[in-house]
Amino acid sequence: MPDDLVQLLRWYADMGVDIALDVTPHDRTREPVAPPPGPVRENAEPISNNAPRPRAPPLPAAPAEAVQQDAREAAASARTLAELRDHLLAFEGCGLKATATQLVFGSGEAGAEVMFVGEAPGADEDRQGVPFVGRAGQLLDKMLASIGLDRGKVYIANVVPWRPPGNRTPTPIETAACLPFTRRQIELVAPKILVCLGAPSAQTLLNSKEAITRLRGRWFDYAAGDVAIRAIAMLHPAYLLRRPADKRLAWRDLRLLAKEIARLRAASENSA
Ligand code: URA
Repeated sequence: MPDDLVQLLRWYADMGVDIALDVTPHDRTREPVAPPPGPVRENAEPISNNAPRPRAPPLPAAPAEAVQQDAREAAASARTLAELRDHLLAFEGCGLKATATQLVFGSGEAGAEVMFVGEAPGADEDRQGVPFVGRAGQLLDKMLASIGLDRGKVYIANVVPWRPPGNRTPTPIETAACLPFTRRQIELVAPKILVCLGAPSAQTLLNSKEAITRLRGRWFDYAAGDVAIRAIAMLHPAYLLRRPADKRLAWRDLRLLAKEIARLRAASENSA
């Protein structure tokens, strides 16, 4: 492929344009501006391309009540992880499904001791249908290995199971639409410890607006039905790839996690 074409494609990818939605290009900046919504104005001046553009209506702050209700009912009716996956496959309440290649459901077994929840699938996960298989996933594998864990022993999921276009952060509406499924997934896995990877996961599941730098490294109780699960937030592996100097903070959090796992194991042996 000629160099300038490669460079153009690379530039598109860097700008977050990584999927083609149509075979013909559209220059939206040259399309006529639509008249502002509202009653038809008679004898109004034609709107020129220099006229101020009508403002988009403000985005709603939460998914429509019908979507939330649908998600709550579908999630609550799932008795197993397989059923929950089927309900998510049928769910039409999150717009990300339209642009993603496939659903990326959690991986692991119900009853796993530790459950990790990240933000959303990236390009590799979207292609393979498995969470955390790209570069961030490889770092997560190393982080697990450093405290004697591996993928076979833990459960890994995301707060949003479809890839946002260009790997953008999921919007609050997309996250809220999927939240009943995420919560039900945690209930069905019933881990002893929940680890939130990165700000979107930690803020959503710990119901906080605090920055990840303040949330990380502290223990919380996450309410899964009637059960309180020990929960901790950590820096996201994708962030650590960009800021390797902060790996020392991640190492501190991993040691806290390892200590808590050992404490819970000892407590359960003593009570057996
Ligand atoms: N980042 C995430 O948050 N989740 C993945 O599955 C992959 C990368």
